[in-house]
Amino acid sequence: MTVLDSRPEVPGDPDGSSDAVLTDSGVSMAPVADLGAGRGPEWLDDWLAGHAGDVLAWRRHIHTNPELARREYGTTELVASLLESAGLTPRVMSSGTGLTCDIGDGPTCVALRADLDALPLTEASGLPFASTVDGAAHACGHDLHTTIVLAAGLALARVADRLPGRVRLIFQPAEEVMPGGALDVIRAGHLDGVDRIFGLHCDPRVEVGKVGTRIGALTSAADLVELRLTSPGGHTSRPHLTADLVHALGTVITSLPSVLSRRVDPRSGTVLVWGSVHAGEAPNAVPQDGLLRGTLRTADEDTWKQLESLVESSVESLLAPLGVGYELNYQRGVPPVVSGQDSTELLRGGVEAALGADALVGTEQSSGGEDFGWYLQHVPGAFARLGVWPGEGPKRDLHQPTFEADERALLTGTRVLVNTALAAFKS
Ligand SMILES: [Zn+2]
Ligand SMILES: [Zn+2]
Repeated sequence: MTVLDSRPEVPGDPDGSSDAVLTDSGVSMAPVADLGAGRGPEWLDDWLAGHAGDVLAWRRHIHTNPELARREYGTTELVASLLESAGLTPRVMSSGTGLTCDIGDGPTCVALRADLDALPLTEASGLPFASTVDGAAHACGHDLHTTIVLAAGLALARVADRLPGRVRLIFQPAEEVMPGGALDVIRAGHLDGVDRIFGLHCDPRVEVGKVGTRIGALTSAADLVELRLTSPGGHTSRPHLTADLVHALGTVITSLPSVLSRRVDPRSGTVLVWGSVHAGEAPNAVPQDGLLRGTLRTADEDTWKQLESLVESSVESLLAPLGVGYELNYQRGVPPVVSGQDSTELLRGGVEAALGADALVGTEQSSGGEDFGWYLQHVPGAFARLGVWPGEGPKRDLHQPTFEADERALLTGTRVLVNTALAAFKS
């Protein structure tokens, strides 16, 4: 693994060149264009002018060395060491993956959140800094999120003594899995004392330099439904002497979605889709067990709260006459991300200050899940869609092995989060 060498800052070094971070090959990156250059605050312009090449190098290092959920040890170490080199005191979570770090002082605390984990797929982007790990890739842009929150923190650290309150950086593990790492962060007490939280996610449908916001729900709730069926098994000529397990699976596969469609408000956008079914081998033998797995999504938070018990009672009723045994594993995945009005207005103010009013675009509620929603169950906040589409060429979706992001978004994202944190202190 490539190691980035972070040299401690030299006090009184005005251009910040002393804390340049180079790759071990000694090659520093040519910086990308800063679309918000000169928009301030001045110390942020200065920091970005001096460090855009480092920001790029950190992102590419993380991209080349992706780590899957709850195994983000190297990424955690890299972020922690860079924060330490700026004189900060990061708190690494007891698992060794994930960390938080406070900057500044005072009772008000604004959190900026990033996620560290990569996806279990093999990258096919063809980029010169593509993943070197088989079966792991940053195809959801979490390498950008991590770098952006890191850069925002390092820039803010320059003015820590002038901040009207604290900024807490949250680098959470395991966003891509259920249960998500946001729950680890909350359980470990790292959200305690936070008054407002902001986060962002790459959006390949939005052009770089633009930022999508929305008051209300931005993502949907997503739960995992796993159903294991059991039967004594037997001959397919005599289903009446056993419990026909494959028939029972088929009943749940088709009937549970239709039951739900008649028991929940259709406007809630609730949809159960099976992704995996396994049972049996021989065409003339009733198998003894089978497994069915799928996701249940809803765009409505109140509906989400009712779904678990509705699935439980429906499965029980559907299977009762069929004689099979069953075990239902219902995992509540994530609630919808619901951006509050006040926080969204602060975020929009941050975007405007960072990139100008033209940068603001609307965004739709996505049917995807995002575990940032867990934080918003505890504290108010807002979430942004960060444009990463270069403005020409294909719009490759998140989670595609060919996903690519325009790296100018590293700087636009940093500017947006810094300015949003400052706006939040004024509220
Ligand atoms: Zn993802
Ligand atoms: Zn993601």
